[in-house]
Order: sequence, then C-alpha cells, then structure tokens
Amino acid sequence: MKILSVNAGSSSLKFQMYEMPEENVLISGVFERIGIENSFYTIKINGEKIQKNANLENHEVAVNILINELLDNNIINSLDEIKGVGHRIVHGGDKYSKSIVLNDEILKDISTLNELAPLHNPANISGVYAFMKQIPNAIQVGCFDTAFHQTIKEDRYRYAVPDEWYTKYGVRKYGFHGMSHKYVSEKVMELLDKDLANVIVCHLGNGGSISAIRDGRCIDTTMGFTPNAGIVMGSRSGDIDYGIIPYMMNKTNMSISDIDNALNKQSGMLGISSVSSDFRDIDAKIAEKHKPSILAHHLYVNSIVGYIAKYYVELGGVDAIAFTAGVGENAPHIRRMVVDRLSCLGIKIDREKNDEFRFGKEGIVSTPDSTAKVFVIPTDEEVVIARDTYSLI
Ligand code: ADP
Repeated sequence: MKILSVNAGSSSLKFQMYEMPEENVLISGVFERIGIENSFYTIKINGEKIQKNANLENHEVAVNILINELLDNNIINSLDEIKGVGHRIVHGGDKYSKSIVLNDEILKDISTLNELAPLHNPANISGVYAFMKQIPNAIQVGCFDTAFHQTIKEDRYRYAVPDEWYTKYGVRKYGFHGMSHKYVSEKVMELLDKDLANVIVCHLGNGGSISAIRDGRCIDTTMGFTPNAGIVMGSRSGDIDYGIIPYMMNKTNMSISDIDNALNKQSGMLGISSVSSDFRDIDAKIAEKHKPSILAHHLYVNSIVGYIAKYYVELGGVDAIAFTAGVGENAPHIRRMVVDRLSCLGIKIDREKNDEFRFGKEGIVSTPDSTAKVFVIPTDEEVVIARDTYSLI
C-alpha cells in the first residue's frame, strides 16, 4: 500500500512516499520557497537527487507537481494507488493525544489551536487542504508533535501560575518533537528486547528536547508551553528566569516581539558564541580556541546533563539513554562531554566506538560495564507518520 508522509511548512513541503507495511521509501523530496520568488524542488529517487525550478505559487501547485512526478517516474500509475496521506501537525493541544483521520470538522477544530503554534499549524493545515483537493480519495491523517507527551501527568505538565492561566488560557506544558521521541524510544526498547524499560531520549538538533519515558509512555519532557523551554538550543535560549524579560524591556526599547525574536532566534549557541547556531561552525572556532564558543559548549552540555540527572531520579534509574537528531547523531564529542559527566551514575561511554557512530549509524556506544546503555539512534519522524497512517487505514 502506498502512503505519503508530509510535512508542510509555511514556504516548504517535504514528502516521502512509502510502500507499507514494508516501510520502503519509494521517492522523497522537498518543495522550497513556496509563494516566494525563485521557488524550486528537489526529488530523490533510487539514490539520485534531481533539482528543478518551478513557479510554486502555493501548496496546491506543489502537490500538483508532486503528483505528476509520481506518475512520470512510474511510482504510481493512477492517483487511486495513494491510499493515505499522513500530515505532521505541530500542535494538537490537550485534545489530540493520538493520530487521527482528518475531515473538515476536525480540521476546523484543530485550527482553534493555531494561537498555540502560529508559525506552524496554519501551514500544516493548508498542506492538508491542498492534498484533500488534489487526492480526494486518499485518507488524510493528522499526526501531532504534541501527542506523545499527552501521557505526562498534571503534576508535571502544570506550571505554578494562577489557576486561571491554565483553565481559561491553556497555559501548561505540551512538549514537542513527540514523533521523534516516540520513534527513538520504541527503537531502543526493540534493541533492548524489553517491553518494560526506563529510557531518556535526547533529541539534539537545531531545536532540542529531552524526554523521560517509562515503558514506552512519556512521563516528562523539557519543552513546555512553547518550544523555547528546556535545554540550550541552536538559537533558542531554553530555560531562563522570566524576570529577565521585563528587566530588558525597561533597560532597552525592545518590544515584547523583539524579546521573543531575541530569545528564539538570537540566543542559545548563537547568542553565547556570537558565531553561529550551527555546531559545525562553532566546532571550527573551538579549534582556534575561541573562548565564547568553548563557553557555549559548556552551557549546552550543562543544560543537558541537568535534565538527564533530573529524569534519572524521576524515573528511578534508567536502562538506556539515546542520542538523536543533527547533533545527537553526528557530534560524538558532545555525546562524550555529556556522558563523561554521568560517570557518578556508573554510565560510561566507549570513546572509540562513540567516534565511529555518525552519519546514520545506529547502535550502542557505552562500555559493557556501563550501568545504562547509551544508544545513537538516527531519528525518523516520517516513518512514524507513515506507520500511524497505515494503521488508521
Ligand atoms: P532541526 O530538524 O531542528 O532543524 P537537525 O536535527 O537537522 O535540526 O539538526 C541540525 C543541526 O545539527 C545543525 O544545525 C548542526 O548544529 C548539527 N549538525 C549536523 N551535522 C553535524 C555534524 N557533522 N557535526 C556537528 N553538528 C552537526
């Protein structure tokens, strides 16, 4: 059965087509600069990457081109072969704790959550409408970034703020990157060959979050009401003392949206290093002994170690810690810096092995006598969408 896994952003649309249940990727690609000049798209098929220019006025045009590419490349012979389209939807609030078959009514309901994810949800939803129009016979499924975290209990998802902020305005921890945390924790359980296990997943990408997972159910996560909570990230501050905000507004002429922009786009690794939000650029500066870059690394590692320690206690010990996403999969030195700090818990990394695990390699990088196994697991949010879509069909 052929299923499309889709991630529609405001000016981009990423897709992968799977043969299910085998999970074979038949074609993948991305449409970029939708609604902007000089738009183009890239498709990958049989290991070959092709880039083409196209006038992508809106998502519907992109979907139309996608269908033609599927037909031209003989991936499908007719549209009816596409049985399902799974869509990444960032925010499902506290209502959507599972993936769901979408219809007009549900999409309208999901739109009421747009305020909680103004940069993402409206774009995700216009992606769904574009596919509904172009492939009307396929079942459309919504898969939420927040859903996996809906098992977190109230004494961990509430903030100690006036009750009405929660009851009237929905201020609580939601958590994000749920599909990645789900995929990686399931993979770890499979590799451990256990149904019951305590796992900490460190999703370290440009954005980053850590989750504590007991027997496959999330009990806590670092991102909160917004993705800006938790660990230090590429350009996001992570946790800060909120009192900094009125102080900086009084001291400067910054508006609340200037502050929001500074904390989301000019902080984190970029803010401290003044170099870049990309770890590769910062690593290059560290090689030149650039002190702010070295400091950025230390702040980053401190924030990760702090949460692992907290979750170790909350879980009552761990069976495994897993690293994933751009930094977690490809930066062995960061994994080493983190795990070296966990030696008081008996968790130890095998340095040689750790250095080998990069660029898509999956497996264990801890020593045989480590009290918890340390895994590197390349994440795969697209396959989670395809699996959920397949199972709902
Ligand atoms: P997101 O999906 O949040 O945009 P990714 O998970 O793709 O992010 O991670 C991207 C980040 O991963 C880059 O910004 C970079 O900091 C880091 N990264 C990617 N490759 C490497 C590498 N080889 N070494 C160090 N860091 C890397």
